[in-house]
Amino acid sequence: MAAAKCCGTINVADSAGNMLLISHADCEKHDAGPGQPESPDRLAVLAPVLQRLQQRGHRLIQAPRVDMQACARVHSRAYLDTLEATALCPRQLDYDTYAGEQSWTATRRAAGAAVAAVDAVLAGEASSVFCAVRPPGHHATPKTAMGFCLLNSIAIAARHATDHHGLERVAIFDFDVHHGNGTQDVFANDKRVAFISSHQMPLYPGTGHPSERGVGNITNIALTAGTDSALYRQRFEREILPTLLGFRPQLLLVSAGFDAHRSDPLSMTRLETDDYGWLSAQLHAVCSELSIPGPIALLEGGYDLGALKESVEAFIEA
Ligand SMILES: [Zn+2]
Repeated sequence: MAAAKCCGTINVADSAGNMLLISHADCEKHDAGPGQPESPDRLAVLAPVLQRLQQRGHRLIQAPRVDMQACARVHSRAYLDTLEATALCPRQLDYDTYAGEQSWTATRRAAGAAVAAVDAVLAGEASSVFCAVRPPGHHATPKTAMGFCLLNSIAIAARHATDHHGLERVAIFDFDVHHGNGTQDVFANDKRVAFISSHQMPLYPGTGHPSERGVGNITNIALTAGTDSALYRQRFEREILPTLLGFRPQLLLVSAGFDAHRSDPLSMTRLETDDYGWLSAQLHAVCSELSIPGPIALLEGGYDLGALKESVEAFIEA
């Protein structure tokens, strides 16, 4: 980790083109029951994609369980105790968030993947990472489960980068169609982290108005229902790209939710599969322009199984 301790000296030359995939079978064991869009099938459909990438020489590693110290940088002790207790006493934590016997293990693997991704990239062992994990995390606040999310994996990863590795500027770009309210809550007063979210509005969870600016480190791009490829790409180029480049992050983390796809049942945004390949290429170009490693992408939403598989494939292939 020595290269990352001294900010601005990350050497990615040796790891160029080396993409790391992180997943774990435990993530399929979190099951909120029949009829839930956030189902184990979401990872099952990605298995052949990961297998193909492995055959082409990309490394796939097993996600470790996140340690409690990393979780405590984001979540309250009382909330972590509540989550841990669900392994013995499963319960409904929120209107649409259920934790069963295996959910605590699954969410620890998901957050562990995110932390391992940061370690791998900052050690120069990978140039970019895709974490195929669930449950998602970006709605989870420091003290509450929300919207299918238990631990806020991307927030835990960002705090690991700042507090453990000593990075001074970390950017999180969230392109899930829902606003990452939990991530925003965590970093609203933390200038070391820029949070940039594009999301349909109005839509669950109801937050994410452009007037929500944190301490100047929050950028909310509200998309109207029906936003298509052309409009999304225009807003990315005019609003998101300059914000990302202007912040000069030393690390780029991505909450990669694929539910803005036109086939997704949970939104009315109309992105195409190709847009995710385009977006991935844009994010790699940002990292290249800034001479930083990454991006590190974590799976968030995406609920049409066919569109999810195609979109993740397009995102990784790019
Ligand atoms: Zn979503």
